[in-house]
Amino acid sequence: MFNNDQTDVLVVGAGPVGMLTALLLAESGVRVKIIDQGDQTVGHSYACALHPRTLKLLDEIGLANDVLKLSRYLSTVAFYEGADRRAELRLSGIGLDFPFVATVPQSALEDFLEQKLKQMDNVTIHWNHRLSALRQEQDAVVASIDKLSKSAKGYAVPDLDTVVQKTIHTRAAFVVGADGQQSLVRQCLGIDYERVAPPENFATFEFEWQGNGEHEVRIVMDEKTTNILLPLPENRCRWTFQRITTDEPSEFPSKDRTPFYVVEPTNDGDSRHELLSFIRQRAPWFDDTVGELDWSADIRFERRLAKRFGHGRCWLAGDAAHQTSPIGVQSMNVGMREAEELSESIVEILKKEAPLELLEDYNRRRRGEWEKLLSVAPSLGSRDEASSWVKKHSDRILPCIPGSGDDLALLVNRLESSCDADQETLVVSFS
Ligand SMILES: Cc1cc2nc3c(=O)[nH]c(=O)nc-3n(C[C@H](O)[C@H](O)[C@H](O)COP(=O)(O)OP(=O)(O)OC[C@H]3O[C@@H](n4cnc5c(N)ncnc54)[C@H](O)[C@@H]3O)c2cc1C
Repeated sequence: MFNNDQTDVLVVGAGPVGMLTALLLAESGVRVKIIDQGDQTVGHSYACALHPRTLKLLDEIGLANDVLKLSRYLSTVAFYEGADRRAELRLSGIGLDFPFVATVPQSALEDFLEQKLKQMDNVTIHWNHRLSALRQEQDAVVASIDKLSKSAKGYAVPDLDTVVQKTIHTRAAFVVGADGQQSLVRQCLGIDYERVAPPENFATFEFEWQGNGEHEVRIVMDEKTTNILLPLPENRCRWTFQRITTDEPSEFPSKDRTPFYVVEPTNDGDSRHELLSFIRQRAPWFDDTVGELDWSADIRFERRLAKRFGHGRCWLAGDAAHQTSPIGVQSMNVGMREAEELSESIVEILKKEAPLELLEDYNRRRRGEWEKLLSVAPSLGSRDEASSWVKKHSDRILPCIPGSGDDLALLVNRLESSCDADQETLVVSFS
């Protein structure tokens, strides 16, 4: 097809979604160039829970074993209302290939994906390369890419400035925009985001914890907030508490590539105090000792959906097309499914000469999925037999279920059909 500064597919963004897209395309024999403006993979745990379907995908490219060696397996999702356990979702016994959620730092996942990419002949990964413009032609897309480098200024404390070393023009049959929240690909396509629900603020705390025997995700709801406890590997866990605040939206932080957090001792003390206070108020049953605090962060998550997932020869996947709250870790996991679907469609077009319109199906399916997940379309709880507790919280339960597509339907159906309106505590067993 193309030579030199030409490739079959240019993937913009080497986050988990971009790297998976590149891998799946390359495995089908497509030539791929993947670029990222950052200088390496992410340094922290960020989106640290993998849904069963994501694990299956990783298995198909031979990565599940390695990832699972570093993971903690969580086989139950339990719903609490204050101190009362209201619902329990067991993932075993319903035919899932991986009947659990696996927690593993996003940094480890990205490292595995990068290592795998580096083993392949038909894909090249370019860090410090930033997309600056896109032009769609009839048979191709031309991307302008700035090659970045650092130049030092200042004397006592060197200050590194990013400078453009040169600009490369790459011609590709397709461009995949997996370039995250501020997606330039989306902006170049003139596709707007729709804010489908108000943004939500969360305070996240990760700390040392001895709850070794713990194998469930716990979602704690009250009148106004949804909170989540995620046990992590290596004697650690993460509490994410929803904040009620009327603060103005702040910019979403960019990915930090350094492997360490700088925590001021005074801030650490404040954070610890706040963590303990959250636990006392919202999860009084959590009486395990809180060990050393690794890090904490306050982040505002938007709930937005791109009006389209692309057009012509440029398509979006992952955070470039959607953002949501961190509770169900949906944005990354559903983004991985988009990587799968988009790469399949592109391969069909490139190898089997399927029409470009095939990608319209991708747009329709993905929009439909997100309308459901973001509760734009009617979903869980509309059925009469759902328990009153489930009905009351349906729009908040759906984004917490670790699945999408067929898996989500399977889990939701079990949840609905097992509900008993008279039961105080709802136990949903999948055996
Ligand atoms: C501080 C922080 C905390 C988070 N916490 C959570 C959490 O608790 N739970 C949760 O579910 N999710 C969390 N997330 C979100 C999660 O990390 C994302 O959902 C996930 O990374 C999405 O993957 P992605 O591949 O779609 O995009 P990203 O991982 O954002 O990757 C996009 C990549 O594109 C690159 N890029 C952007 N613009 C350009 C350009 N013009 N040219 C070249 N490259 C470009 C970026 O450098 C980036 O590496 C957090 C994110 C951050 C930053």
